[in-house]
Amino acid sequence: MTEWKTRTRLVHEGSRRSQYGEMAEAIFLTQGFAYDSAESAEARFVKAGDDEFIYARYGNPTTRMFEERIAGLEGTEDAFATASGMAAVNGALTSMLRAGDHVVSSRALFGSCLYILEEVLTRYGVNVTFVDGADLGAWRAAVKPATKAVFFESMSNPTLELVDIRGVAEIAHAVGALVIVDNVFATPIFSRAVEQGADVVVYSTTKHIDGQGRALGGVVCGTKEYIRKVLEPYMKHTGGSMSPFTSWIMLNGMATLDLRCRAMAESALTIARALEGDARLGRVIFPGLESHPQHALAMEQMGSGGTLVTFDIKAGKEAAFRFMNALQIAKISNNLGDAKSIATHPATTTHQRLSPEMKETLGITPGLIRFSVGLEDAGDLVADIMQALDAM
Ligand SMILES: *Cc1c(COP(=O)(O)O)cnc(C)c1O
Repeated sequence: MTEWKTRTRLVHEGSRRSQYGEMAEAIFLTQGFAYDSAESAEARFVKAGDDEFIYARYGNPTTRMFEERIAGLEGTEDAFATASGMAAVNGALTSMLRAGDHVVSSRALFGSCLYILEEVLTRYGVNVTFVDGADLGAWRAAVKPATKAVFFESMSNPTLELVDIRGVAEIAHAVGALVIVDNVFATPIFSRAVEQGADVVVYSTTKHIDGQGRALGGVVCGTKEYIRKVLEPYMKHTGGSMSPFTSWIMLNGMATLDLRCRAMAESALTIARALEGDARLGRVIFPGLESHPQHALAMEQMGSGGTLVTFDIKAGKEAAFRFMNALQIAKISNNLGDAKSIATHPATTTHQRLSPEMKETLGITPGLIRFSVGLEDAGDLVADIMQALDAM
């Protein structure tokens, strides 16, 4: 790993050039690699060197560039790129767990993460306890000697609740459990999850890392021991690797990641300030606002409020739909971290599957809108939101 600062790493780290010296990262669009001799094929299967590849499901030069770039940014020894964020979450957990193990997880999770913990792991004999992620006392009460991992989203979807990474890591490490963090909402730019005690950090690269809504991808960052000895055997034999073309897209996304996240976060603060106190809204949730109950933790943990603003339209679902339908710039969709601003109605889309009681517990009210702030002009976005609230 180099001593470079973030922006330099994002442009250069992990780059490999062929004998042609191409400027842009090459796409090695190949499933496999020819060996010089039968002996070298044998040797490579016994132990592949750093720049030696066998089969794209195991690894590929373009994918390797992306893995080295994100590991450098995250501050971990290694990383493994996956076909989607969910392949990363599933791999990070399933590769290290076996029947009889115990996992503690925060309850406020992305729907597919909840499915893995609630439906998949339990089917194979893993015991899972769900807790309120913001309540350190609940984490403390839930861990036990059989706890092998804790899992949480460092900033929850869609209500932007933070989990105190340092606090949970201390509790987990006391029983020898691995701390696995889904860090999508916090972004690799604002989060210092590894410094704060996370052992494994997972991203859906579909979000800010691509940042332009082009491709699905995921990545798991961790120690060399975990990535190569625990995760890689599971991923390479079960087939969830990132494609070389997707790796190339993500490599290019990385170059502008810092600039984009900072611009989005600045606009998010502008939007949150413009909305705070509006009589048509109940809660305006943005951890960058001083009024947010976890503002101090957000500043300490991320130094930013992030790139999403969530707000509750008091008049309920029909009004929320009228608001969304009146937006001229922001699109109605369900991605986030995209260059294009996106409005999502969690109760009827991303969190539709949850029971009414669970929606209430998680604060997913009928009027709740999750707004992913894009790269458009902040003044235009505020004007768009205001005209849509008026039209509503
Ligand atoms: C989107 C998302 C995922 C899943 O990622 P995909 O790339 O869609 O598979 C996991 N966790 C969080 C918090 C997400 O936002």
